[in-house]
Amino acid sequence: MFKYSALSLTKFDDMHEACPECGQHYEPEVGFYWGAMYVSYGFSVGIVVLVGVLLYYLAHDPPVWVYVSTVAVTVLLLTPLLFRYARAVMLYFFGGIDFQATR
Ligand SMILES: [Zn+2]
Repeated sequence: MFKYSALSLTKFDDMHEACPECGQHYEPEVGFYWGAMYVSYGFSVGIVVLVGVLLYYLAHDPPVWVYVSTVAVTVLLLTPLLFRYARAVMLYFFGGIDFQATR
């Protein structure tokens, strides 16, 4: 779906217009990926909860600034992955594309 590696800090969001293999168009309608923001938000909430629970048990309930900074750094570092997976999930569930093994 994406032109460059997720590690490319400035181009991780560049998408192909269509699939290079089968030609499937990647944007079913204008503004389709606005919905991916909600998917990304869900991923972020999951990360906040996971990091919070891990810190609570592994670091024995550290001060609040440790929670806030750890969650912020984690989400920032994972931004390219969250962005990409949110779009892929959005396209998979709401793109209306049927998989055809013969194509
Ligand atoms: Zn394809």
